[in-house]
Amino acid sequence: MIERTIRTGDDRVKEKKMYECEFCNAVYPDEEKAQKCEKNHKTLKKCEVSRWLPIDESWTGFPETVKVTFDDGQYAFYKRI
Ligand SMILES: [Zn+2]
Repeated sequence: MIERTIRTGDDRVKEKKMYECEFCNAVYPDEEKAQKCEKNHKTLKKCEVSRWLPIDESWTGFPETVKVTFDDGQYAFYKRI
């Protein structure tokens, strides 16, 4: 988590302490909420190809879908767009 000080106003400068989630860069005035946001993001543990396409369907060589396993053991499939 990043702690930021933001200055507002011209002649009467006010400082505000803000907290930024290091994963999605959302900024919160509340440190607890920023920590909650960070803990909510799943981090990658493993990524593996789930499906390839024949060259007649895709000449790029990129996989069509991949399976991503996260640090908590849950997984999700992602499809190329
Ligand atoms: Zn976040």
